[in-house]
Amino acid sequence: MSKGKDRKAHLKDLEKLLVNYRVDSGDGFKLQDFDPSSTDGMEEGKERAQELLVRGVDWLSELQDRLYAQDKYALLCVFQAMDAAGKDGTIKHVMSGVNPQGCQVYSFKQPSSEDLDHDFMWRYMKCLPERGRIGIFNRSYYEEVLVVRVHDQLLQKEKIPERLITKKIWDERLQDIKAFERYLSRNGVVVLKFYLNLSKQEQKKRFLARIDVPEKNWKFSSADVEERGYWKDYAKAYQEAIAGTASEEAPWYVVPADNKWFTRLVVIAAIVKTLEKLDLRYPQLEKDQLKNLEKAKLMLQSEKK
Ligand code: ATP
Ligand code: MG
Repeated sequence: MSKGKDRKAHLKDLEKLLVNYRVDSGDGFKLQDFDPSSTDGMEEGKERAQELLVRGVDWLSELQDRLYAQDKYALLCVFQAMDAAGKDGTIKHVMSGVNPQGCQVYSFKQPSSEDLDHDFMWRYMKCLPERGRIGIFNRSYYEEVLVVRVHDQLLQKEKIPERLITKKIWDERLQDIKAFERYLSRNGVVVLKFYLNLSKQEQKKRFLARIDVPEKNWKFSSADVEERGYWKDYAKAYQEAIAGTASEEAPWYVVPADNKWFTRLVVIAAIVKTLEKLDLRYPQLEKDQLKNLEKAKLMLQSEKK
């Protein structure tokens, strides 16, 4: 099969994988309708899944090269999840073939006092990807409607004038985030958002493995177990966040996260599909620029040894 035809078939396979997980409108969205353990019947064909993943990584590397050369679009990939859902591993695998120069990864932790002296978007805006680059947000401005919503004492620390803190604040933040993402898309920054959808049982298993396996001990944090106690509150906050901000220009992917190999495949599929749709091309040189190339070639060829 020619490379072009093969690619088309591959793209179709990847697109098929995505239909169940893409959310581009909040209408009727219910997080509980999404099964964290789903593998789309691929369990038997794990080898095939592995092959799709490897080829996806390869393809992404090519697409990134063109994105960089064209220097017009930027891609922002936002990763959100409960602890131990596999954000780090997914980022590591999906980006494994990508030129580090064209990729910028930021992990957002608790805000600093300088961050708290600004509006909530400030620290995230500073980290947006340049044109031609892929930006990865490991946690993001969505924490402002997730952890801050679940623990609303965090909101008190944000030094917002009291009269602006009303019952509507979460809806207002969601509206602002949606508008911000529309603004980005209108500027050529393509936004993709991934919620790695882990089940509570699988999280327990992974936490226990972090305790039992010495090589994983460093990953364990008792604070994570405490956060687990707020599972329902987080589920509610995620429901509202996704429903309130899903849009055509900045879709969410609710990715099953109980099986890591499947998580990675869905994420790579979404990124490849999105970049492929942009029709990225290497810049074409103008006639006089081509003439200059010819001139330079002649000069090089006529150099004495
Ligand atoms: P890992 O545990 O895999 O290293 P992580 O993203 O969980 O990665 P941690 O240092 O464990 O990193 O946790 C970061 C913490 O910072 C999370 O509990 C997160 O909810 C919190 N956080 C992130 N953004 C904000 C924010 N804007 N306000 C308050 N807390 C935040
Ligand atoms: Mg953590």
